[in-house]
Parts: sequence; C-alpha cells; structure tokens
Amino acid sequence: MVRTVDFAFSDEQIAIRNTARAFIADEIITREAEALRRERQGESAITRAELRELQHAARKFGFWGLSTPQEYGGMELPAVIEALLWAETGRSFIPFRFGGEADNILYHANDEQTAEYLVPTIEGDRLSCFAITEPDAGSDAANIKTSARPDGDDWLINGEKTFITGGNDADFAIVIAVTDADKGAREGSTAFLVDRAMGWTSHFIPTMGEGGPASLVFEDVRVPNRNVLGEVGQGFALGMEWIGRGRYLIPARALGAAERLLQMAIDYANTRETFGRKIGANQAIQWMIADSEVELEAARWLVLQAAWTVDQGRDARHASSIAKLFGAAMANEVVDRVLQIHGGMGYTRELPIERWYRETRLWRIFEGTDEMQRLIISRDLLRGYTTIGGHLG
Ligand SMILES: Cc1cc2nc3c(=O)[nH]c(=O)nc-3n(C[C@H](O)[C@H](O)[C@H](O)COP(=O)(O)OP(=O)(O)OC[C@H]3O[C@@H](n4cnc5c(N)ncnc54)[C@H](O)[C@@H]3O)c2cc1C
Repeated sequence: MVRTVDFAFSDEQIAIRNTARAFIADEIITREAEALRRERQGESAITRAELRELQHAARKFGFWGLSTPQEYGGMELPAVIEALLWAETGRSFIPFRFGGEADNILYHANDEQTAEYLVPTIEGDRLSCFAITEPDAGSDAANIKTSARPDGDDWLINGEKTFITGGNDADFAIVIAVTDADKGAREGSTAFLVDRAMGWTSHFIPTMGEGGPASLVFEDVRVPNRNVLGEVGQGFALGMEWIGRGRYLIPARALGAAERLLQMAIDYANTRETFGRKIGANQAIQWMIADSEVELEAARWLVLQAAWTVDQGRDARHASSIAKLFGAAMANEVVDRVLQIHGGMGYTRELPIERWYRETRLWRIFEGTDEMQRLIISRDLLRGYTTIGGHLG
C-alpha cells in the first residue's frame, strides 16, 4: 500500500503544547494589562526577578531548557516541538521565555568555560549577549572591524558593536572579533567570552520597540587567552551558527502572535457593531480575516518544515530562510489588518495590538533582513545547491 503523508502531531506533542498553552494563558497573558501600564510609563513589562520567578514556576511543569542537553538538566527537545513551544510563548507580547537556556554556541565551551559561563547561564545566574553587528557591518557581517590582537597571554579587543540585544543587562558578551586581518573576517575571526568587568561599556539604543538593544564599546579590553570560545579563526562560523537558530524560531514566535491577534480580530468582528450590524458581516472585514488565516496557515507549515529539517539532521538553512522571510512578513500583514479591524481602539495603548505592531516590524530586520533571506534563497537555487521542491523533489 502507498504510505500517506502524516501531518498530525503525536499525543505527546499535543500534551506538551497544551500544557504550555495553559501556562501562558494563566501566568503570562493575565499580566498583560499591568505590562502595558508599565510600558506606558517607560518601565519594563516584567522585571528580571519576575521573569526568573515565572521561569521557575514553569520548571515545575517540566519546562526548563527546551533545547538544553539533558546532561545539563534540560529537556533536549526535538526542533519541531521546540518550535511549537516558541509559538506558545509568542501568544503574549510579554518577553517571557522558558528558562534553562544558553546561546547555542556556548556549548563549544571547554570544561573551564562550561563551569564559568555555560552552566551559570543555563541556571539564569549569568546573562549573556551575542555581538557581531557593528555600525558599518550588519547584513555584511564579513565586514566587521572590531579587532583582537595578542598581547602576552591575553588579547586586546578594540572596536564597537551595535544593536546588541540584552547588551545593557548582560554581564558577559560573546564577541566576534577579527584576529587575522590578512585572512579577512570570514576566516580570520574568533569568538571571545568577555566579562563586562573586563572593561567594555554599553549604551542603550532607543528603538520603536520596548527594551531596546545597546551599543558596546571596547577600548583595549584585555581578555585572557582562556576566554577564546571554540578555536581561533572559527569566530565567523560560530556567529553564523548562532544566527541560524533564530531563523526558524523567530517565525515560530510570529505564529503564536498572529494566532492570538487573529482571534482578537474575530472576537471584535463578532461583537463590534456599525450601521446596525456586526462589522464581521462586511466582506471587507471577512476578507482581512480570510487572508490572515491563509497566510498564517502557510507560515505554520513553513516553520514546521524548517524545524523538521533540523530534526532530520539535514542542512536547514534554506528552509529556515524561507520560514523567516514568510513568517515575519505574515506577522506584519496580520497585525496591520487586526489593527485596522479594531479601528481607533487598535491604535491605542490600551490593547496589545499597537505594541505588537511595533515589535513585529523588527522580525523583518534582525537575524537577517528580508533582503538577506531572499539573497540566500535565490543564491541556493541559482547555484544549484537546492532544487525547487527541496527534499520532496
Ligand atoms: C532590535 C535589534 C536587535 C538586534 N540584536 C542583535 C544582537 O543581539 N546581536 C547582533 O550581533 N546584532 C543584532 N542586531 C543587528 C541586526 O542583525 C542588523 O540590524 C541586521 O542584520 C541588519 O543590519 P544593518 O542594520 O546594518 O542594515 P544594513 O546591512 O545596513 O542594511 C540596510 C538595508 O539594506 C539592505 N541590504 C543590505 N545589503 C543588501 C544587498 N546586498 N541586497 C539587497 N539589500 C541589501 C538590508 O536588507 C536593509 O534593508 C539587532 C538589530 C536590532 C534592530
């Protein structure tokens, strides 16, 4: 008999997803009104202490270290279920994430670095940030100029990084710096673990989103040789490995946000009345709802396909770029329609819609802009690295 394609989730996947959904509904979404109030006053939606408390509450349900290896106390989940869980956390704009995680490239740490950086980061006792972007090198990351030159048993780092998420709070940075200018950044960069106490400074960058990134300044910052992460010359590859992970998880988060937003639009369309009938009775509103559902559904399968490719141990870069490009665009389209359906209320800061409107815009920019995803997708095809239809032929 010809085998059919199975698009269903297993009972276990559904059970995990539903437990997470209930946690987010009970513990996170209930905080949204207060979070919006705080943000209107220029404060963070949740404090670091509250985040930790929530992460430990989620730990009681088993949610700790979604991608973290079991030897470090994590769940070591397959990428598909991890993507489903990122979608669940995406159902709220509150920047909640499950605890017990560390940057994927920190697992290149040696034994000493594991004790000093990796394990405390997983436990939430230390905060990291990842820094590759510079004022003159964003999309063109191979153009970075921040340098690290040997000085005795140490390295001296000089340069500036910009737009670094968490850069104002982190107590150490994973910094990609050029160690061999003759080879260029691609072959001649190295990753360093650089404590704030070693001397770098950070400056908050106000953005249209909440909790903006920071610029980091390095002036002869002395870093011991034992703080090289991975191998000398491996920095650019590690940078790309770090970025690759977000390429299917950002659109996964976008899925959750779009699902929640679309449901808000449906509820509003079914209650708000104009001209003596529900606004949902108008084709103009119906089409916005229909188009949103179609795009959401398409994005869902692209995210799952990218995550599934990761689980297969195959090169997931092409699938992830497709998911990131489409998923981020989808969220921007959906939030715009949902805001429109809510009329003036959608524009207020009473509801989370304008908050999401500002945040979703970032998803088209960071960890590879729309244009960079298009560049990757077309380059893969033009060079024959992938074929139309991918593994399905
Ligand atoms: C809020 C926020 C958080 C961030 N967090 C981090 C972080 O934690 N760590 C980190 O290292 N970086 C971080 N970034 C940096 C982010 O990855 C870069 O902003 C992004 O890669 C784009 O680089 P750029 O801003 O220099 O734009 P540019 O590279 O200058 O691009 C400007 C425009 O030109 C387009 N463009 C560039 N080259 C081409 C081309 N060849 N073909 C067609 N179009 C092109 C781009 O797509 C874009 O539209 C963050 C950025 C923001 C805004």
